[in-house]
Amino acid sequence: MTGEGRLAGRVVVVTGAAQGQGAAEARALAAEGAVVVATDARPAPDCRALDVTDPDAWARLAADLRAEHGVVHGLVNNAGVTWRARLGEVTAADFARVHAVNATGPLLGMQHLAPLMPPGSSIVNVGSAAALTAHYPVAYTASKWALRGLAKAACLELGPLGIRVNTIHPGFIETEMTATAPPAFREANLRETPLGRTGTVDEVTGLVVFLLSDEASFITGAEIPVDGGYTAHGGAKSISDALRT
Ligand code: NAD
Repeated sequence: MTGEGRLAGRVVVVTGAAQGQGAAEARALAAEGAVVVATDARPAPDCRALDVTDPDAWARLAADLRAEHGVVHGLVNNAGVTWRARLGEVTAADFARVHAVNATGPLLGMQHLAPLMPPGSSIVNVGSAAALTAHYPVAYTASKWALRGLAKAACLELGPLGIRVNTIHPGFIETEMTATAPPAFREANLRETPLGRTGTVDEVTGLVVFLLSDEASFITGAEIPVDGGYTAHGGAKSISDALRT
C-alpha cells in the first residue's frame, strides 16, 4: 500500500508491538503511511507472533517479508524486558534471559532483516536511560549498555550499504512496564527529571518516525535520549535543587 505521509509505502517491522511504546510506534508509523509489520512474543490482535530471541522465527519472518514485499525499509527493535533484581540477587539465568531479549533480539533482527534492506533503510533500537547511567536493575542495565555497543558496531557494518542505525534512550515513560515499578521508583525519577514529569508513549513515537524517515538521512550511530532531561545532568540536579532557594 502506498499513500501519503513521511513513510509512505515503507515496510517497517516493529518488535514488542502488542502494548506500550511498541503499539504506539506501530500506530504512528501507520499514520505516516508505512506498511507496518507489528510483532510480539505474546498473542495480540494485529500482531504477528515473533519471539525476538528465536532465530528460526526471525528467519521465517524474513522469508515471508521477502515473498510478500521483496524489501524491508525499517526495523524498530523495541521489544524489551526488565528484571528488577540488584547486583547481589540476580541469577546468571535471569541475567542471560534479559540479555537474550534486550541485546540478542536486536542482533538477530538486524542479521535477518538487513539483507532485505535497500539503501536509505533505517534501524531504530530502543535503549533506555539505563543504558547511559548506573541504573540499579543490573541485568536490564547491562543488557541496554550491550545494545549500545551492538548499535555502534552495526552502524559501521551497515553504513556502506546505506542503512542507518540509531538508538533512542527513553526515560520514565508511562507504559505497562513502568506501571509495575514501585512507587518509590516513580518518585525518585521525578526528582531527577528536570521537566518534573514522566513521559508518554506519544512523546517517543515522533522520534522513531523521524529516525525512520528521510529527514534523518545523514544521522546514523546516534544516541538520542527522550527523557525529560533525566540523563542530562549527570547527578548534579540535586545540587542545583538544593541551592536554588
Ligand atoms: P512493555 O512491557 O509495555 O512492552 C514490551 C513488549 O515487548 C510487550 O508487548 C512484550 O510482550 C514484548 N516482549 C517481551 N519479550 C519479548 C520477546 N522475547 N519477543 C518479542 N516481544 C517481547 O514495555 P515498554 O515500556 O513499552 O518498553 C518498550 C521498550 O522501551 C523496551 O525495550 C524497554 O526496555 C524500553 N524502555 C522503556 C521505558 C519505560 O519507561 N517504559 C524506559 C526506557 C526504555
